[in-house]
Parts: sequence; C-alpha cells; structure tokens
Amino acid sequence: MGRSPFARRKSHSEPGPGDAGKTGTWRVLRPIIDVTLCIPAKTKKMACFNCWLYCPDGVVTRTIPPTIEYDYCKGCEICAEECPAGAIRMVEETEFIKKEK
Ligand code: SF4
Ligand code: SF4
Repeated sequence: MGRSPFARRKSHSEPGPGDAGKTGTWRVLRPIIDVTLCIPAKTKKMACFNCWLYCPDGVVTRTIPPTIEYDYCKGCEICAEECPAGAIRMVEETEFIKKEK
C-alpha cells in the first residue's frame, strides 16, 4: 500500500503566532497564570497543558510553567475556560494601564 494519491491535495493549516499580526492589541482581558495552581508548575511534570492545546493562536508555551506571548494573545479566554485547575484568571487590561502610569 502506497501513499494516497490525494494526500498532497488535503488542505490543512496550523495556527501560529503572528498569523493575523500583533493581535495582542485587540485584547480587553489578559490571561494571567497562577503558578501556585497550575498543574505542571506545581508538580514539575509535563502534565495538562490544556492552555497550550486549546489556544487558537498558539501563543502558550508547553513549558514548566507555561507562558503566554502577550504580543499575540487576543484575550479570547479559551485557555481560562479549559484550565482544569482554575489557574488562569482574566484581568481587565485597564488594570495594567493604571499600573504602567
Ligand atoms: S491549563 Fe491550567 S493547569 Fe493546565 S497547564 Fe495550563 S495553566 Fe496549568
Ligand atoms: S486568551 Fe488564552 S486561549 Fe486566547 S489567545 Fe490568549 S492565551 Fe490563547
């Protein structure tokens, strides 16, 4: 059995940071990971990573602890919804603007 003659015709796309420019400027809410609750950060094991798996923009790293590339995170909140440990809190961007002033 060889490779399907249609294999090369199948379309697929892979998400990646920057596909739509610096989407971080769209963000109203910023996801913040609490490393005291995050499963891999707490256990030092390569476990969970739902945030990495479900982020539609591919801006979460699969590292201990996971990190978020804020230049491209558009604040969709999917990571927070999918986190089984409740370790991701969505914080109003205005909170950070106040601190930066
Ligand atoms: S989904 Fe939550 S617990 Fe899992 S790696 Fe991400 S922040 Fe940590
Ligand atoms: S809010 Fe979470 S899921 Fe959405 S783009 Fe940012 S890191 Fe990815």
